Amino acid sequence: MPVKVLATDPLDEMGLEMLKRAGVEVHYRPGISPEELKAVIGQYDALIVRGRTKLRRDVLEAGARRLKAICRAGVGLDNIDLRAAEELGIAVFNTPEASTEAVAELAVALMLSLARAIPRADGALKEGRWLKRELMGWELAGRTLGIIGFGRIGQRVAEICSALKMRILAYRRTRPPGLEEVLRRTGARMAPLEELIRSSDIITIHVPLTPQTRHMIGEREISMMKNGAIIINTSRGGVIDEEALLKALKNGKLAAAALDVFEEEPPKGISLELARLPNVVATPHIGGQTREAQKKASEMAAKKLLEFFRSKGLL
Ligand code: NAD
Repeated sequence: MPVKVLATDPLDEMGLEMLKRAGVEVHYRPGISPEELKAVIGQYDALIVRGRTKLRRDVLEAGARRLKAICRAGVGLDNIDLRAAEELGIAVFNTPEASTEAVAELAVALMLSLARAIPRADGALKEGRWLKRELMGWELAGRTLGIIGFGRIGQRVAEICSALKMRILAYRRTRPPGLEEVLRRTGARMAPLEELIRSSDIITIHVPLTPQTRHMIGEREISMMKNGAIIINTSRGGVIDEEALLKALKNGKLAAAALDVFEEEPPKGISLELARLPNVVATPHIGGQTREAQKKASEMAAKKLLEFFRSKGLL
């Protein structure tokens, strides 16, 4: 019996081709409904999903007889009931490496958008207004950038920003091997969180959302920031206390923010109020939305599934 994989969300074809070349039978149903999925899931050895497909316990139980693995092409696993998967012996993996470059480049793009007021300049020009005098920008070179969360994305941001001649402070909980080399290459210096917060002109956040990082930037942390500092968040909305951020952006404690992620997406209530502020540049969670990141996610998902099938002697 051939190994069968069902892809239930839109996926770059590269990964699907890799699976087929290795002898896997691949079915691509990117618009499959929850009911249809529940009806057919039992026929597959593995699923490839993105964020759209919700794999709750009842769906996983329907597939438990045959399903051995789920690969999330991308990062977030919040659409998968991980406890149920573990109990049912279904392996779950993702491809977090795929979007590193895309998110790092977006974080830097957002910094530059704020520094040169690009969204405002563009909006005004389209309305026939020539705001040359009003749009006095500032340069990233020479500014201190604080990177909170110095993993894949944070380190890539440091590499780009070192070329922009920024001074870089970085904070993370652990000091894994290899870190010294990154610090040497980027000129970044590790700093305790409080020092980073107090000394940075721009703070960019790259931690995962966990119980420890939830609201790690709140009223207290914002009060320690330089007057007129700037926050960039491309990690997860919940890392910042949005109420405290809204207050600080309204009363001028913070000069501006750029946000790709919100506590509520699409934003409503406070999240939407934040996105609408004139000193906020907001994007709709597009960190990983590049052609290259999508292609890498698809390829890496296929590679991980093939490794899994081979390790289990299925291929
Ligand atoms: P990573 O695991 O490589 O790096 C995360 C870093 O945060 C690590 O250095 C870790 O030590 C550090 N960290 C974790 N908990 C911490 C804490 N309590 N205090 C201080 N540091 C802590 O992850 P990554 O690939 O760099 O991605 C970072 C985050 O970016 C992801 O978790 C995800 O939430 C977000 N992301 C967003 C998008 C988007 O579309 N905007 C896309 C991909 C990833």
